[in-house]
Amino acid sequence: MTEPDLLQRHRAVLPNWVSLYYDEPIEIVRAEGRRVTDGSGRTYLDFFAGILTNAIGYDVTEISDAVRTQLDTGVLHTSTLYLIRKQVELAERIAELSGIPDAKVFFTNSGTEANETALMLATQYRRSNQILALRNSYHGRAFGTVGITGNRGWSASALSPVKVSYVHGGYRYRSPFAGLDEAAYVEACTEDLRDVLRTTTSGDVAALIAEPIQGVGGFATPPDGLFGRFKEVLDESGILLISDEVQTGWGRTGEHFWGMDAHGVTPDLLTFAKGLGNGLAIGGVVARGEIMDCLGANSISTFGGNPVSTAGAAATLDYLLDHDLQGNAAKQGATLMAGLREIQSRCAVVGDVRGKGLMIGVELVRPGSQAPGEPDPAAAARVLEETKARGLLIGKGGLHGNVLRIAPPMTLTDEESAEALAILDDSLAAASA
Ligand code: PMP
Repeated sequence: MTEPDLLQRHRAVLPNWVSLYYDEPIEIVRAEGRRVTDGSGRTYLDFFAGILTNAIGYDVTEISDAVRTQLDTGVLHTSTLYLIRKQVELAERIAELSGIPDAKVFFTNSGTEANETALMLATQYRRSNQILALRNSYHGRAFGTVGITGNRGWSASALSPVKVSYVHGGYRYRSPFAGLDEAAYVEACTEDLRDVLRTTTSGDVAALIAEPIQGVGGFATPPDGLFGRFKEVLDESGILLISDEVQTGWGRTGEHFWGMDAHGVTPDLLTFAKGLGNGLAIGGVVARGEIMDCLGANSISTFGGNPVSTAGAAATLDYLLDHDLQGNAAKQGATLMAGLREIQSRCAVVGDVRGKGLMIGVELVRPGSQAPGEPDPAAAARVLEETKARGLLIGKGGLHGNVLRIAPPMTLTDEESAEALAILDDSLAAASA
């Protein structure tokens, strides 16, 4: 609970398109591990921060120490006009981890900026402003990225600086190809891609951008191999593949380090942000050197890759690799997935449970409605209130706002998984009653 006054002041001075969760929005004032405390002293298990910000949890000593050591030098930032050792070191590591040959890295402060940069690079490199994106996608909140975002609810402006065509693929549950098995679905989407290329573009397209699992779109998870088939089609015309790993990167999907790895393909460009900073502002784009160096003039990001953010990011990377958090994401994800599927078997409001690792979506539908079920955003809002009342924070999303999003920090323990499952079980029952 927040003092009502703060909520009123927020509403008065911040734009009305900045949405808040909950009937009574909370202010988080303290946090540790996977738990956060609000202004009234209530503590919650945080099952959403993992994806938004705190990939490995709150108050991690190794990360605080790395940031403090940098602060102690007195250098919060200088400028990219001088050498920044931490930035170079982190770029070297990310270039190597990306699997992209001859890779270079450019740091930004956010996922939006990372995708804006990727768009600029791809369009310049290909000398084309035609972009392919997926229906139900989300890529950011600035002019270009809003322009390519396929999820209408999060595409605040309809004016786009690029010409975008949307293809099927990400959101299988409500796709016209939903009834097909995985292999046939992949082929149907690949045929759709060919058709869109042929009929809505000049063929001279810069890039296709895709989230390996659609985040804001409700953790919509395409079958493995889909983007591998897409890449074969793109390669016929030299079209670049941009993997937006802002939510799927750093091992969160459990089985792979990057979401795109499940598709057996290395993208031409990869964008990242959110979890890498574990709460600090950092993002970036990785691309083959030839693509990264294609711009014709100077460019700068004043704060992108500053010594404080890169110190925190390097410590985050060390921590998640040293503690095999990808392995833990796979393990805890399997427990949560099995528990939620069991709940689904006896809870008519749950239409679909999907995802990978610690990105799990639960799509809610009106019980008794015709398959795949009428979307029930009101039920999702009720479940969020019910989980909050029981001390658990989760997210929601999806094209219709009817998908629960479960994305805890990757340091999650067995006990916390069990605790959250019990709360979700009770909350779903209460919200369906
Ligand atoms: N891409 C994806 C897949 C995202 O989920 C988001 C944020 N929700 C962004 C880009 C934009 O990132 P940011 O909010 O850091 O600008």
